[in-house]
Amino acid sequence: MLFDSDIEKKVFPKQLWSDHVIGQERLLSQIHQSCVQGKLPHCSLVSGKAGAGQLYVALMMAQSLLCAEAEAPCGICESCHKVSELIHPDLHFALPVFAANQTSESIQVNWKDLVKSKPYLNIYQWQSAQDKDAKQANITAAECRYIIDRMYLKPFESDRNVLILWLPEYLGKEGNILLKLLEEPPGNSFLILVTEDASSIINTILSRAHLFKLKPIDDEAFNQFFIGKYNINPELVLKENIVSEKNISIAYQNLVEKNHEVGEFKLELIRSFFQRILRNNPVEIVQWVDDFHSIGKDNQKIFFTQVLQVLSLSLGHKSRPNVQANHKIDLLDFTQKLSTVIDLKAIENIMRMIEDTMYYLQRNASVKIVMTDMMIQSSTFFKNKN
Ligand SMILES: [Zn+2]
Repeated sequence: MLFDSDIEKKVFPKQLWSDHVIGQERLLSQIHQSCVQGKLPHCSLVSGKAGAGQLYVALMMAQSLLCAEAEAPCGICESCHKVSELIHPDLHFALPVFAANQTSESIQVNWKDLVKSKPYLNIYQWQSAQDKDAKQANITAAECRYIIDRMYLKPFESDRNVLILWLPEYLGKEGNILLKLLEEPPGNSFLILVTEDASSIINTILSRAHLFKLKPIDDEAFNQFFIGKYNINPELVLKENIVSEKNISIAYQNLVEKNHEVGEFKLELIRSFFQRILRNNPVEIVQWVDDFHSIGKDNQKIFFTQVLQVLSLSLGHKSRPNVQANHKIDLLDFTQKLSTVIDLKAIENIMRMIEDTMYYLQRNASVKIVMTDMMIQSSTFFKNKN
């Protein structure tokens, strides 16, 4: 017993990144098979719609590659533990940054915290965690050189290096720096690209990566995630399913992070807004704007965002008029009716006016003047709908 190597083996509480992935069983088992057979490509592209869980799939691949057990990933060995805590010395990351000529090295700690605390982290959350004035996200030339350095490192604790490049769609022509690496990757290195928009990745990179594609999340898996795991009111979940287009990241922000008041859809207010515009009675509009003024800036902002969502849903009904919802939802009922009294041009115009209104209000224009004006102008679009 004294010489049994198991004695020294630490066992950790089971943590698997694959447990965070929703409704991608087929893809996970395909990756698992490739791993077991030692056939995982040296350059992979994990691709899917925003909020589908690509990063978790990439982390699951990293966990499989770095776990030393026969049934990898076991989830309980020291390697698996370090990957689940994002502290494995042979697991590297590269990310978009917001300043010129910089690498992400010094801010990766911050990013890792977000990955662990914000499910389905998106670029906007990453951006707002940086400087308030954070500009355009960018994977810099310096970051590309950082990637090459990491990929050629001698592994510390395993026999391989894994590097996850988050959102390669932010890589411009600097990406060509990586070509040699992609053409002749060191035998013990694995590069995993994680994208929400494969069509924006430069071709020279795209053509060298093996594609693993996530399917869109289905209704059942989406609803079950929020109703089952977070105990959210099913009615709210069904609405968010439609509004967020099953983007788990956005839906999580709306349903779990914000308080209930914010998560609630202001359908009655939106309904009365469109009714006043349709009737185009100036006295009624002024009264409505008076009430709207009193709900406060935060609620006004939420209202505008939701009106835009309502308009884009109406737009959707126009292109797919025969689609019926599986569930009876007030919101969908309303947007379907709205789509029958408003034409495409009017939807576009009103959306643009709402965006302008939001812009003016952000700069402290008078709510009463801007809103009254916008509603009266909007009514002309309804009149001219033919
Ligand atoms: Zn393991």
